[in-house]
Amino acid sequence: MLSFWEKTSFTDYDYLIIGGGIVGLSTAAALAERQPDKRILVIERGILPLGASTKNAGFACFGSLTELLADLRVMSEEQLLALVELRWKGLLRLRQRLGDQRIGYEPVGGYELIDEQSVHNLEQLPSVNFKLFKLFKQTVFTLENDKIREFGFNAQYCKSLLFNNLEGVLHTGRMMKSLWQYVSERGVHIVTGCQVRELHEQAGKIRVACQSIAQTMVFDAEKVAVCTNAFTRELFPTLDIQPGRGQVLITEPIPHLRVRGAFHMQEGYYYFRHVGNCLLFGGGRNADFEGESTTRFETTPLIMDLLEEKLRHIILPNTNFRVAMRWAGIMAFGSDKQPIVCPHPTLPQVFLGVRMGGMGVAIGSMIGEQLADMMQHAS
Ligand SMILES: Cc1cc2nc3c(=O)[nH]c(=O)nc-3n(C[C@H](O)[C@H](O)[C@H](O)COP(=O)(O)OP(=O)(O)OC[C@H]3O[C@@H](n4cnc5c(N)ncnc54)[C@H](O)[C@@H]3O)c2cc1C
Repeated sequence: MLSFWEKTSFTDYDYLIIGGGIVGLSTAAALAERQPDKRILVIERGILPLGASTKNAGFACFGSLTELLADLRVMSEEQLLALVELRWKGLLRLRQRLGDQRIGYEPVGGYELIDEQSVHNLEQLPSVNFKLFKLFKQTVFTLENDKIREFGFNAQYCKSLLFNNLEGVLHTGRMMKSLWQYVSERGVHIVTGCQVRELHEQAGKIRVACQSIAQTMVFDAEKVAVCTNAFTRELFPTLDIQPGRGQVLITEPIPHLRVRGAFHMQEGYYYFRHVGNCLLFGGGRNADFEGESTTRFETTPLIMDLLEEKLRHIILPNTNFRVAMRWAGIMAFGSDKQPIVCPHPTLPQVFLGVRMGGMGVAIGSMIGEQLADMMQHAS
């Protein structure tokens, strides 16, 4: 039961955004920047965002050589370049909006370890650099084999090392916290611990039914953005979205850690970076695609053992380390790598911004801009 005060002050909005991850908050930020007088609500089911945005590795990257080549097998060159451009512009937008210091951005560069099985990809290095030159006006990937020894990698495994000076790392927690603060300062109302159960059109508005532990509640909005990524099928079961879990570990501080940068291996299925003097390592989804197509926030011995084994033999050979923490986040994939950004087919006041894949930190800010554009200009 609502009071008169609650009903008149809290239930009616111009824009309502479902999901408080990077896409939802970036959409709120873009709308609040363009239309500061509009009433904007973000509804998040977790106490903290509960998906991928506060669980990821914090790579500010747009694709390693072997990942881009794998993508070229399933999409056209034009589509791939458009996706790379979206990632790059998204990273620039994120950094410009929040500031490098606030998000802990470090321009340390990205690397890719090339093993025996991947060496043949190097033949295509000149042609990939040529394609990317159109976008970046510089050579993106260079060989830095001298650094294999400098970083202390196992040279039996790592036959070559590629470097990309346009990439970096950021502090995921500080980035999300400052994005949250940014939208709050602009008058966006954020409700957490509240799950959207259902939405439908009613009297020209969208009625959004939600539930928290303590109460059920209904909000009305002129326009709604659905930014629920891997969990979208709970609201719209027919969408082409599959969850993909990502498991991560971080070591305790390692004295004199030599690894500095954002590193990829095996088409981006493995990734590691420094966080201060700790090493964060994640991936391995390709070792158990079926088991990892889940929304369960759990780590598994299979993936964790694999990560530890690679850490011991490839990344930190001859170094003692202890794992300090392990966690999992949930991404969203589909039959292709393109995000879904469009009006809902039967609810024209509802807009979808979902299926961010494995580089949502990169594209999230631009997807927010695209959603804000659609919401602002739809009649
Ligand atoms: C381990 C891991 C490492 C990664 N590393 C990187 C990286 O280094 N660089 C990179 O660019 N990307 C990375 N990613 C991918 C990136 O984190 C995601 O693509 C991005 O965070 C997706 O953002 P989102 O806002 O679309 O989704 P999410 O962050 O999942 O946000 C969706 C939100 O919607 C909420 N929600 C869902 N259903 C409802 C509902 N019914 N009612 C209310 N709220 C709801 C959820 O609780 C969630 O908070 C990684 C992902 C993982 C898991």
